[in-house]
Amino acid sequence: MEKKELIYEGKAKRVYSTDQPGQVIQEFKDDATAFDGKKRGTIAGKGKTNAQMTDIILRYLEKKGIRTHHVKLLTENEIVTWWLEMFLVEIIVRNYAAGSLAKRLGVEERTEMRAPLVEYYYKSDELGDPMLSREHIRELGLVSDDQLDEMTAIALRVNEILVPYFEARGLILADLKLEFGMREGQIYLGDEFSPDVCRLWDSETGDIMDKDRFRRDLGKLEETYAEVLKRVKEEDIGIKVFIYVSPKKGVLDPAGQAALGSLKSLGFEEVSDVRIGKYITLHLEGIEGHKAAERVEEMCERLLANPVIEDYQIDIQD
Ligand code: C5P
Repeated sequence: MEKKELIYEGKAKRVYSTDQPGQVIQEFKDDATAFDGKKRGTIAGKGKTNAQMTDIILRYLEKKGIRTHHVKLLTENEIVTWWLEMFLVEIIVRNYAAGSLAKRLGVEERTEMRAPLVEYYYKSDELGDPMLSREHIRELGLVSDDQLDEMTAIALRVNEILVPYFEARGLILADLKLEFGMREGQIYLGDEFSPDVCRLWDSETGDIMDKDRFRRDLGKLEETYAEVLKRVKEEDIGIKVFIYVSPKKGVLDPAGQAALGSLKSLGFEEVSDVRIGKYITLHLEGIEGHKAAERVEEMCERLLANPVIEDYQIDIQD
């Protein structure tokens, strides 16, 4: 792939045209800015860690059914993406109060939101990215109502996917910012996903693991970005397996029969059958996902269930 001319330079990225139709190269910089560009600095290695993290997260989101602009990681600090016609509306989803929400509404930092809270912002450096209501968006004609609904649904879905993803890596996803654009008549998730555009707190220590370390002069910037990437890179983080074992139909189930009798005598007349089995959880490590089902089945056949008298159901989560 040939890198051609620079078509856009932002605060954290340079975008280049390529010899591939519709595809661009996004080069991640080490530059960091905050407070509408009033605070400037560099975080050594940030370009590399953010490009690699964006590659991993966007590929994961794709796997989960989210349409993103991501094509591939090209070098340590460059990714190839589809060129999108970007919308000027940014969406922030908050699971916990922090930053501007805490300040604007006087809500104590780290207060958990009742439900993921969606906010819209106007992508405008001159205006300092002000917050927008649906009516503002309609008035300015930034996106249609249908487009806004679709972007909002995608943003909430991305949050729903990423909260457990980070939880499995010992991180709380406090909030995130997403940007969207159009390609061939469809809405795509664009931009990056890195500690520059979300808030991450260590689940055990509560330590800040994102760009707030730069905003608040907390130090350990390079180490923090590297640690987040390390946790995200741990693909071999394990697989959770749930197994439900129950007596086969027609097999005598004394515990189930006893419970049925007792439930009826307690007045639960609506119960017509009770089968009592067991529920097993396993945590697998060092095994590729596609091999897990076969291995767990063997475990059930040989030990965890008695296939002559018991049925089992395996549920594998990635
Ligand atoms: O500053 P505020 O609390 O509104 O930020 C909410 C989330 O959006 C944070 O994760 C922050 O990093 C991100 N954000 C961003 N770009 C902006 C404003 C906020 O990525 N221009």
